[in-house]
Amino acid sequence: MAYNIPLRNKPLVLVVDDDLSLRLAMGAAMVKAGFDVIEAQNGREGLALFQSNTPDLILLDVMMPEMDGFETCTAIRKLPEGKHTQILMVTGLDDIQSTERAFEVGANDFVSKPLNWVMLGHRGKYMLRAGQAFQKLNKNERRLAKTQELAQLGNWDFDLINSTFHCSPEARRLLGLIDVNHVTYKNFLAPVIAQERGQVKETIDTAIKTKTPFSINYRIILPDGTLRHVLNRGEIWFNANGKAETILGAIQDVTQLKRAEEEIRMLAFYDGLTGLANRMLFMDRLEQEIIKSKRHKKNFALLFLDLDQFKRINDTFGHHIGDLLLKSVAETLREGVRRSDTVTKPVPDHSDTLIARLGGDEFIILLADISEPENAAIVARRILHEMRNPYDLEGHEVSVSTSIGISVFPADGEDIEVLLQHADSAMYHAKDTGKNNYQFYKESLNAAVQERFSLEHDIKYGLKRNEFILYYQPQIDLSTRKIVGAEALIRWLHPQKGMIPPDKFISIAEESGLIIDINKWVIQTACKQNTIWRENGLNPIRIAVNLSGYQLASQNIIQIIKEALQDGNLDAKHLEVEITENILMQDTEDTVRVLKQLKDLSLRIALDDFGTGYSSLSYLTSFPVDIIKIDRSFVMGCTKLTNNLVIIKAIIAMGHSLGMKIVAEGIETEEQLELLKGFSADEGQGYYFSPPVSQEEFANLLKKGTL
Ligand code: C2E
Ligand code: CA
Ligand code: CA
Repeated sequence: MAYNIPLRNKPLVLVVDDDLSLRLAMGAAMVKAGFDVIEAQNGREGLALFQSNTPDLILLDVMMPEMDGFETCTAIRKLPEGKHTQILMVTGLDDIQSTERAFEVGANDFVSKPLNWVMLGHRGKYMLRAGQAFQKLNKNERRLAKTQELAQLGNWDFDLINSTFHCSPEARRLLGLIDVNHVTYKNFLAPVIAQERGQVKETIDTAIKTKTPFSINYRIILPDGTLRHVLNRGEIWFNANGKAETILGAIQDVTQLKRAEEEIRMLAFYDGLTGLANRMLFMDRLEQEIIKSKRHKKNFALLFLDLDQFKRINDTFGHHIGDLLLKSVAETLREGVRRSDTVTKPVPDHSDTLIARLGGDEFIILLADISEPENAAIVARRILHEMRNPYDLEGHEVSVSTSIGISVFPADGEDIEVLLQHADSAMYHAKDTGKNNYQFYKESLNAAVQERFSLEHDIKYGLKRNEFILYYQPQIDLSTRKIVGAEALIRWLHPQKGMIPPDKFISIAEESGLIIDINKWVIQTACKQNTIWRENGLNPIRIAVNLSGYQLASQNIIQIIKEALQDGNLDAKHLEVEITENILMQDTEDTVRVLKQLKDLSLRIALDDFGTGYSSLSYLTSFPVDIIKIDRSFVMGCTKLTNNLVIIKAIIAMGHSLGMKIVAEGIETEEQLELLKGFSADEGQGYYFSPPVSQEEFANLLKKGTL
């Protein structure tokens, strides 16, 4: 190889000079210093001798006829074997220009005439040594670079003392940063996929700050759009005094490894046909879920499904169509679970739901963290509903139904075998009761669920038949005791069951989506009522309506409110909206948008039941809330329980400092009233002033004006 050091007893020097006496003197000096010497009298001859002998060192005179020293040096450097030869230029005295040029054309050093013969030999020897060290280093670097390329491994370091960052060519290549001249720490992190960037930065920052090693796996996106998995590991280097000097890191492309892992996992834990979990993964997850649910005292359900008369389909259409059907059913199950999740849970979390194919036409679904068994029924109903539509399988219209058995943890069993056995026997019960239906293992649950769904049905018809009414509870200015507003509270006058309070049906309405119609009805009715009072000569008043339900953003609330205000010719200050933290927790971006739109209409927004939910301070600062309603559970015990007092005081101080008004709910006694006034709560509401009353009674209260 070109940079190999030739095997010689003595190093070889080529002396090139047109001046014979100087040439001889230089040669003699070099022999004395232990070199073998060859000589040339001009550049052309020197070049030829270089090619035939590849000397280790060249003493090259600048001024020569034919081909001068600069040209010769340039020519030698162009040769592959001339890259690393040490070249010492011999220039005239104080010839600054020549010395500069010497370096430009690639000389390693220069000496100027007159020459010091003793020093010349030493100089030659040192140059040779430096050259060899340089070649060795160069070789090592190239070897390292090649090794890194082969291993797809790059290194980087962060100088902790000067805060400078550096990374190797392979690290740059790995990260797709080859177009960047100087790679900074920021460039280095730029290709990390957005979801993981924060975590990666934090890990490395922490390592830099705490001077501790780290190891992190993450994904990067290259400029051409390809996704790669990398492993980045770092360690700290300390100097002799024990001070942390550098973080030394290695970044490695582990994409292939990840893919292989993924493939192995797929083969081992997933059903090849449908891509659903297989029995093994399911059993494993079920075991974990039991442990988790025991610890957190949560319920979960198993839905055991068996297709009805799948064998007949297989026999009629053949196995290929049978397979396609199983795939389509798997899709329906995924969809059914996904869609039901968004109504049954305030924050959908698909990560705890697992759908598996146990074999043949048997499927099982694990629904984690359900608040009540009805949630499982909702999913079962959704699946049965979706499966009513026939599948189009390569031109064949194929219909299939399923029977579903449900067991619930812990009520129906606390271990795997019992839960599965009970779900299985419930499934057979569903088959026995005519197929295409679901059954709980516990008969009583079937009845309860029946009741719940009949209530759902009744709500739907109740809305059509005008069975709902609004009651109004006055809201009082605590300093003047004037009625400044009313909260509209819904009641259901059920034809058979009598007056039903909202606690009994609002959550069902929320889960079934009927809340959308209820919200709409409440807004319209409250606005209409306000107009009627005004027409009857009463002062228009601010009415607060409770809006709930999942995905407020998709309820078209803004349009409904606009129209209701317009129809009643009402000002926006006559309507207020009460929402709970539950709503704020759901898809935040959309919620913020709706709340902003409400603000644009100049509506006031009150945060209801404050203190009972997650009550994250960030809700108050990141959502445009005007009013905080302190939940009545705090007011209730406030005269006895110091804890409640402290909380109330804190909520009021915090709300006021953010420019919000405070409404205290559930004031029942004089004592409570005095206390809240003392803490400068702005408004109050409660039985002490008045319970929620019908619109006629409220009109009478309004005539009085103060309470
Ligand atoms: P909320 O929004 O916190 O409403 C206040 C509840 O406290 C009302 O119960 C009211 O009657 C009761 N209350 C008022 N003052 C006192 C008091 O001094 N002591 C006691 N112990 N209770 C008092 P209600 O009318 O039964 O409503 C219960 C919940 O149902 C409401 O809680 C609200 O979350 C929901 N709700 C009521 N109407 C509607 C509605 O139109 N739409 C929606 N989405 N939810 C509603
Ligand atoms: Ca309320
Ligand atoms: Ca409340």
